[in-house]
Amino acid sequence: MAERMECMCAECGISHYILISDLTIENTPDFDYPLVVNITCSQCGGTLFVIGKEGEQPNYLTG
Ligand SMILES: [Zn+2]
Repeated sequence: MAERMECMCAECGISHYILISDLTIENTPDFDYPLVVNITCSQCGGTLFVIGKEGEQPNYLTG
């Protein structure tokens, strides 16, 4: 079973679900999340960063 990571665009905020095997990730000291270096946002071309595994993202509080 292929695992996917949830990656958010730093520019437009869209989440992408990308196979772990397709990702190249780079940790940066200036940013809380690892950056995706080989794939950019399909909507705007912005930088993606990894939030976590699909289904394991933090709970978003609403209301
Ligand atoms: Zn984007």
